[in-house]
Amino acid sequence: MIAQRNKIKVKTPIVEMDGDEMTRIMWGMVKEKLILPHVEMDLVYYDLHIKNRDKTRDQVTVNAANAIIKHGVGVKCATITPNADRVKEYNLREMWKSPNGTIRSMLDGTVFRKPILAKNIKPFVSTWKEPIVIGRHAHGDVYSNAELGIPGPGKAEIVFTPSQGGKPAKQTIKEFDGPGIIQGIYNTDESIRNFASTCFSFAFDQKLDLWFSTKDTISKTYDARFRDIFEEEYQGNWVAKFRDVGIEYFFTLIDDAVARIIRSKGGILWALKNYDGDVMSDLVASACGSLAMMTSVLVSPSGCFEYEAAHGTVQKHYYKHLNKEETSTNSMALIFAWSGGLRRRGKLDGTEEVVGFANELEEAAIETIESGVMTGDLLFVAEKSPNNRRVNTQEFIDAVAERLQRKLQG
Ligand code: NAP
Ligand code: MG
Repeated sequence: MIAQRNKIKVKTPIVEMDGDEMTRIMWGMVKEKLILPHVEMDLVYYDLHIKNRDKTRDQVTVNAANAIIKHGVGVKCATITPNADRVKEYNLREMWKSPNGTIRSMLDGTVFRKPILAKNIKPFVSTWKEPIVIGRHAHGDVYSNAELGIPGPGKAEIVFTPSQGGKPAKQTIKEFDGPGIIQGIYNTDESIRNFASTCFSFAFDQKLDLWFSTKDTISKTYDARFRDIFEEEYQGNWVAKFRDVGIEYFFTLIDDAVARIIRSKGGILWALKNYDGDVMSDLVASACGSLAMMTSVLVSPSGCFEYEAAHGTVQKHYYKHLNKEETSTNSMALIFAWSGGLRRRGKLDGTEEVVGFANELEEAAIETIESGVMTGDLLFVAEKSPNNRRVNTQEFIDAVAERLQRKLQG
């Protein structure tokens, strides 16, 4: 055990959001074995356990989001988004909204997802040598649409009525001669501009080329607006900065981007509209081996950061755990949520030793896997080696803890 006086001090409080099921169990282990023995900090704790959200009528989620806005950096465990089954399982008063959705809308943030690479876990795409980070515009489009089923012949129109008076703008969508469907979607200049500015600053911060792609050849008003706002943001604020650090901004048609990404070597931030980002982030995660090898950070335009795992609460493993069966659940993404939050805090506070600790923690975790010690999900995708050994949930965290201890002692 490291003596109290040797602990690394974090200057400013970090907001901690606890969660549910298997990830809650691992969150506690990571905190107790990897973080608290080495770091002294003021944690502003919110318990987002489903029962506590229910008890507080979800006020605890709103309070946590406000705390991130106040303190600037938060780390979050995965949480249950209730559906009908969960309402029954936990005897909930209401089907509370997704905590991530609530936090995202309060911070107006962009979600960046970055794979964790280890030498012996090769992406299925052999050309990918560096991470492909997805920046998803988590606002509007098909996720807040209006849809109608069309029962039979008739005319469908799209209408905008200005609130300050003036003539409504109207366009025919389709003269139906039989049943069909229609859909209305929207976005706002403000949100697109925030998205663009957050992507440029993230790319600059991480020194990654920024790609942005839409279907602007077909969607000449909607998708073209995204393209134009990105171009304005680039020309207005980033040309010189990007040149100085040797990175590029590149806009291309989504089809072309998909074709190129498969042949790229990675090291790219790929900014995508809401639906494209939803789909492509799953593709990149699965191509990188396991859901547990994907980190996720929500970045707000005002500079707040919330770090978490990209996966859920790993419900099936939790039921095994409750049944006293052994689990082999991967804690990498949770470890990286803590290290991401600590590194950001260290950078904001100018405390190099905190940044250094975050780096060592990540290295210890990756080296553990590279030494062949890994959870079941990775054993299938890792390069074959006589050193490979499947460990259980706890043993993996213990192995990282041991390695970290050795590193910190030099
Ligand atoms: P999940 O928790 O992501 O797990 C789906 C499957 O992926 C698991 O059954 C497991 O596969 C594998 N997996 C995910 N994370 C893993 C890890 N760390 N180590 C090893 N394997 C891992 O998704 P879910 O079970 O569909 O959702 C459970 C709950 O999570 C839901 O209530 C949902 O609302 C919530 N959720 C929360 C968030 C969030 O808070 N960010 C995100 C998504 C979902 P095998 O069973 O094949 O081993
Ligand atoms: Mg998806």
